[in-house]
Amino acid sequence: MVFELTEEQKLVRDTARDFAQKRLKPVALELDEKEEVTPKIMKELGELGYFGIIIPEKYGGSGLDSLSYILILEEIAKVSAGVMITVSVHNSLFCQALNKFANEEQKQKYLPKMATGEWIGAYALTEPHSGTDAGALRTKAEFKNKGYVLNGEKLFVTNAGLADVFVVFASTKPELKAKGISCFIVEKSFKGLNIGAKEKKLGIKASDTRAISLVDCFVPQENLLGIPNEGFKMALEILDSGRIGVAAQALGIAEAAFEESLKYAKERKQFDQPIANFQAIQFKLADMATRIEAARHLVYNAAQMSNNNHDFVKQASMAKLFASEVANFVANEAVQIHGGYGYMKEYPVERYFRDARITEIYEGTSEAQRITIFREISKG
Ligand SMILES: Cc1cc2nc3c(=O)[nH]c(=O)nc-3n(C[C@H](O)[C@H](O)[C@H](O)COP(=O)(O)OP(=O)(O)OC[C@H]3O[C@@H](n4cnc5c(N)ncnc54)[C@H](O)[C@@H]3O)c2cc1C
Repeated sequence: MVFELTEEQKLVRDTARDFAQKRLKPVALELDEKEEVTPKIMKELGELGYFGIIIPEKYGGSGLDSLSYILILEEIAKVSAGVMITVSVHNSLFCQALNKFANEEQKQKYLPKMATGEWIGAYALTEPHSGTDAGALRTKAEFKNKGYVLNGEKLFVTNAGLADVFVVFASTKPELKAKGISCFIVEKSFKGLNIGAKEKKLGIKASDTRAISLVDCFVPQENLLGIPNEGFKMALEILDSGRIGVAAQALGIAEAAFEESLKYAKERKQFDQPIANFQAIQFKLADMATRIEAARHLVYNAAQMSNNNHDFVKQASMAKLFASEVANFVANEAVQIHGGYGYMKEYPVERYFRDARITEIYEGTSEAQRITIFREISKG
């Protein structure tokens, strides 16, 4: 299958590439070392409309199709996986939750601010005792005085330090376990929401990851998102499309690691010739390129399917599983091709190697993807 991009999709990709290569690439290492996406870069992302990519035009967004969105994420991830996940969590997990489940009033209240990047969004599902087993979460939401009182702790919340608003999952009927979870729109200014310190991470260091706690945090009834007690189903549905974004992140990292390796192999000389002359290096590059091509097809296909309203759960899981494993394989080989230099910070493959690791963990581990894929292929 050949993916023929439309003229509009090519323009979207080229614009993102231009921004990523000219504006982001020169500061990517600095952002990694500073462990932040600077306000300047956040502003530029906002001006380009990258915080409203999938928000309908009616609410001030660009309303782009899923493949265009994925092309933007891929180009940003090629340069900075940390910046990419900042954009992706805001769009895929926060804005998509509102696109899918918010009522008209909620959409009008929040989406225009999200579209410009005036407000940033985050998604809080994971807890100390519930990661893969997200349905076992313990945060409670008790109905009181025309609202809900939330108590609990959420871990590893991407964008937590930047966010103005969070979607938070909490149990409204603990006795029903996963069937008693509801979802809430919680603003940073709500009393009782506390944001923890920034986590120190192996990779995607520019992104902001923190724990949050909710201590008698009152959330007005109008901030209930979707149908009460359907929160777990909603959480999974949001992650289904989100994981195509992580697959695009993995693809971008792999492409960048490959391109650096090919360039380096042609330049680096040993035994009076470029190391690219050695078959051992050629075979590594051939394997890297082949797996990247296969990953790209899976990722674009999953994006196209989600765009056309097909059931894309299997394709999204396959794309995420495969692309994340490819990213780790390619980044590992990239370090090997660079020899000792690949282990040094002055070469970007060191960062790609660290950044690739997370793609097999968040928005569903590789094991969780295999569980989903098996469930889908055994449906009969
Ligand atoms: C940098 C970063 C950013 C994140 N951002 C967010 C965010 O914005 N919002 C959010 O809600 N969460 C976020 N997460 C959480 C992330 O989604 C979880 O870490 C992930 O889902 C795994 O959960 P866990 O860490 O509790 O691991 P566990 O679920 O404890 O898993 C540990 C190991 O056991 C395996 N395992 C678990 N259950 C099974 C099973 N049934 N069969 C086989 N193997 C199994 C897992 O695959 C894994 O290898 C983030 C995490 C990180 C590290």
